[in-house]
Amino acid sequence: MALLATDAIVLHAFDYLESSRILRLVTRDGGVRSALAKGARRSSRRFGSAVDLFAQGSVQLYAKPGRDLDTLSAFDVVLARPMLAEDLGRFAGASAIAELTLRFGRDAADAGLFDAVAEALDALAVAAPDAALTATLASAWRIVAELGFAPAVDVCADCHAALDAEATVMFSHRAGGALCARCGRLAPAGRKLPAEARNALRGFLVGVAGEALDDASTRAHQRLLREFLAEHLTDGRPLRALELWEEQRW
Ligand SMILES: [Zn+2]
Repeated sequence: MALLATDAIVLHAFDYLESSRILRLVTRDGGVRSALAKGARRSSRRFGSAVDLFAQGSVQLYAKPGRDLDTLSAFDVVLARPMLAEDLGRFAGASAIAELTLRFGRDAADAGLFDAVAEALDALAVAAPDAALTATLASAWRIVAELGFAPAVDVCADCHAALDAEATVMFSHRAGGALCARCGRLAPAGRKLPAEARNALRGFLVGVAGEALDDASTRAHQRLLREFLAEHLTDGRPLRALELWEEQRW
């Protein structure tokens, strides 16, 4: 068995048998992992609050080749993030981020993805209620970028011509982003993306939320994200947490 000692964040946790829990983690050096926390329900002594959602710390995992489930041998929490549970908007956003990460992250070292998730949860934990949606949009797009699917924003996704920053452009999910006027005319389908929305998206891709968007802009950005994910990051299963977050059902 190989020992992996690394930083980790709990993105999902559920009870297993009578006394244990299974944690789904994003880690810095091992990507997305599932780990068995033996006895975590029987006694809080061994893992303490580490088995709580969105807790972050240093872990020791024993991985067996060919097995999907690691064994958690230690988890020293450095950050518990209880504030995420204090506001439903924050919690819904954090859950959507967790879902995106668990669904599409891989079980290989990815420090960029780990940092994106950690910073997303930190930002959401202190987000004012009216800023949580915008913070989640920024975090989701940054994770999309970390996963290698960033849409083109400043050059045409098709011919790579530079785009005027002030222009309203066609955004084609199929083509992978913004298009120049010529390619936009040839694209079978797309959405018009005004300069303001493209500016916001440019910031989101590096995790910068900027000022909280108004309701209409929020809905337009949520739709853009949903459609982009459906085109580029899908395994055929619905993203339930993301749906709940978009519909603001809390
Ligand atoms: Zn073009």
